[in-house]
Amino acid sequence: MSSIKVDEARKVILEKIEVQGTEKVSINEALGRILSEDIVARRNNPPMDNSAMDGYALIANDIQSATPDTPVTLDIIEDLAAGYTPEMVVKSGQAVRIMTGAPIPEGADSVIMQEDTERDGNRVQVKDKAETRENIRDAGEDVREGETVIKKGADLLPAHIGMMAVVGRSSVLVGRRPSVAILSTGDEIMDLDDPLSGPCIYNSNGYMLAAQIKSAGGTPSYLGIARDNEEDLMEKFKWALQCDMVVSSGGVSVGDYDLVKASLKKMGQEMLFWKVAMKPGKPLAFGRIDDVPIFGLPGNPVSSFVSFEQFVRPSIRKMMGATQLSHRSVQAKLTRTIHKKAGRQHFLSAYVQWENGACTVNPTQEQGSGILKSTVNANGLLIFPLELTEMTEGTEVTVQLLE
Ligand code: AMP
Ligand code: MG
Repeated sequence: MSSIKVDEARKVILEKIEVQGTEKVSINEALGRILSEDIVARRNNPPMDNSAMDGYALIANDIQSATPDTPVTLDIIEDLAAGYTPEMVVKSGQAVRIMTGAPIPEGADSVIMQEDTERDGNRVQVKDKAETRENIRDAGEDVREGETVIKKGADLLPAHIGMMAVVGRSSVLVGRRPSVAILSTGDEIMDLDDPLSGPCIYNSNGYMLAAQIKSAGGTPSYLGIARDNEEDLMEKFKWALQCDMVVSSGGVSVGDYDLVKASLKKMGQEMLFWKVAMKPGKPLAFGRIDDVPIFGLPGNPVSSFVSFEQFVRPSIRKMMGATQLSHRSVQAKLTRTIHKKAGRQHFLSAYVQWENGACTVNPTQEQGSGILKSTVNANGLLIFPLELTEMTEGTEVTVQLLE
């Protein structure tokens, strides 16, 4: 079977991924979730014209001649704090002492700030002129009644939580977090509690995948390690199918003990397998059993990491109903010339920097599917397109941001 391109593979996968159900959560639990409804304002915010300053509400026309040397004196007819309704109507020659956020009294068309005045009992000397509507915040300037203030599919950030409260929402509908089973495979893989000896290594992929799943919004379910035989793989995959999605690592290549594909086939997997024209991470088995999507990721740590970011993260986010499925990308200037063979899209671990208004990207020195250190020292994945063999220093390249 020939390889397909990364974007095509992503498209084929996403066509098979369905948006899951929703759940209602309190505003205090909503941070980091994906919104499943439009949030619509039921009234204006602010509800009425109000003062942007501590000062005096008055008629702008009354104080057109005011200067520090020729102040205009007005009678104070009311003291008004935020949260109270004015009782008096302002007429020419009058002012209302007003606090930030208090409603503008009828008759007044401007607010002069306290710093430009001097109070003397029930009178105030105004030492500067003001424009009509100066220091007045319009009713609805933040939010209009009927306006959609947060769109379905948004990632809920702190400002969204604030806006939910502005419009009085104590709970909202969000996408349910998919449960994602993680199955590591390999006779050489040991868990962190196991005594490590000889040619064995720790199950770093299992823990890294759990972290990636969490950061994508899913709930990881760690199923441990399957040994390289079909019986063990099939038994563990059977358990895994209780989750909404399954992610395995290792055993999908062409080695004698790469039995993941064969085991899944025996279990009735609808085969949508391909090799993807990418590096790291060429082998990738994707399919479904009983509508549960199963990703057989490659075993090399960087391949597993990069494949997850390209295919699994967008799938988890689609399940939750997110609008933005993949990481955001930036254009950055390459700090050194790089080479590769044509035929595969490369993802290079790289460090993006913003300095003096310029964005530059530096591929980390060591690259390799088994060199996880390169990814640890990176904040992005530099995309080296399939057909290219060279990208010279100074070229604008695309970098997928990992942060
Ligand atoms: P495989 O695809 O099973 O041939 O694995 C490719 C390479 O990745 C081998 O060197 C494995 O030892 C390594 N590998 C596989 N699974 C894991 C894992 N869970 N954690 C760390 N390395 C792994
Ligand atoms: Mg293996």
